[in-house]
Amino acid sequence: MIKKRMLMIVLGLLLITGCSSSNEPANELKAEAKTETAAAKTKQKQKSLPNVKILATGGTIAGADKSKTSTTNYRAGAVGVDALIEAVPEMQDIANISGEQIANIGSQNMTNETLLKLSKRANELLASDDVDGIVVTHGTDTLEETAYFLNLVIKSDKPIVVVGSMRPSTAIGADGPSNLYNAVKVAASKEAKGKGTLVVLNDRIASARYVTKTNTTTPDTFKSEEMGNIGVIAEDIYIFNEITKKHTKETDFDISKIDKLPQVDIIYGYQSDGRYLFDAAQKAGAKGIVFAGSGNGSISDAAKKGAIAAVEKGMAVVRSSRTKNGVVTPSQELEKKKLLASNSLNPEKSRILLMLALTKTNDPAKIQKYFNEY
Ligand code: GLU
Repeated sequence: MIKKRMLMIVLGLLLITGCSSSNEPANELKAEAKTETAAAKTKQKQKSLPNVKILATGGTIAGADKSKTSTTNYRAGAVGVDALIEAVPEMQDIANISGEQIANIGSQNMTNETLLKLSKRANELLASDDVDGIVVTHGTDTLEETAYFLNLVIKSDKPIVVVGSMRPSTAIGADGPSNLYNAVKVAASKEAKGKGTLVVLNDRIASARYVTKTNTTTPDTFKSEEMGNIGVIAEDIYIFNEITKKHTKETDFDISKIDKLPQVDIIYGYQSDGRYLFDAAQKAGAKGIVFAGSGNGSISDAAKKGAIAAVEKGMAVVRSSRTKNGVVTPSQELEKKKLLASNSLNPEKSRILLMLALTKTNDPAKIQKYFNEY
């Protein structure tokens, strides 16, 4: 009985092997033809897809930790650009992706030098016919500063999108992959053309001019509180707001020949602040100061003495607000002393604009005009 069963199994195996070997050439041909069609299709598709370059600078989006539950104690900038791209293969269906590592740092360590390197490279790439859009991966802490700098110095209508994440790549519910996918989608889109630098996180599209980080740890941290976002990504891209402030090709700033930006420091206003803060900044080489005043850019009498002395020594002083929202309106009394108002720019973005303004002029009236326009 057992012998009979064994025989049947052996016969069965022979039959299966025999069958498959007799069909081999035909199957191979079929498989080859299939591969060729697939390759031709991919080639065709790649030709029609936009080319998006990812410029990586580090941050949590490139962060990693051993623990999947670690969302605050991890190493930012631990993963390279190739790993970021490999982690989201779906991006290849919407664009031809390539990457470059500009830096791999936590964005609290972003410097003017790296900012210039990134912006010059972005301008170079966008000037080429081979690049249709750029995505910059960045730590979220100072993301808005880099994004606003790019918004003022990029000389192209092609999309440029800055993206980050709040959870490292190793965490449960990491937001990096979906944010990166969405950023590529926006950078590859027609809708993003001519809109200045955009920031994409948490399914929202924001203008670099208005967006700011509002929460230390949560994924919904980026808000454009006064103005609203300019759109959302719900598989498709929906744009519902226009950008009225000047940006990219419309600005006066040309960084192509600039190797060093003027030092601009931020002084935070508080009860019992004083003149010595301004004196210290001046001694440290500042060419400009942004004062994060209370309320509508208010400045104490003691600090005002320092601000006026700084202006008399040729420095530019701009009042912004530590409230981070609303307009700092011009004050007749302070205008007479040539203390400028930041319009609706928060202190960190005011510093970015003042650095660029000082590459063009020291004239307070001209600098004020920049603040009103950009
Ligand atoms: N501090 C780090 C940075 O800004 C991590 C914060 C983040 O990317 O969310 O790069």
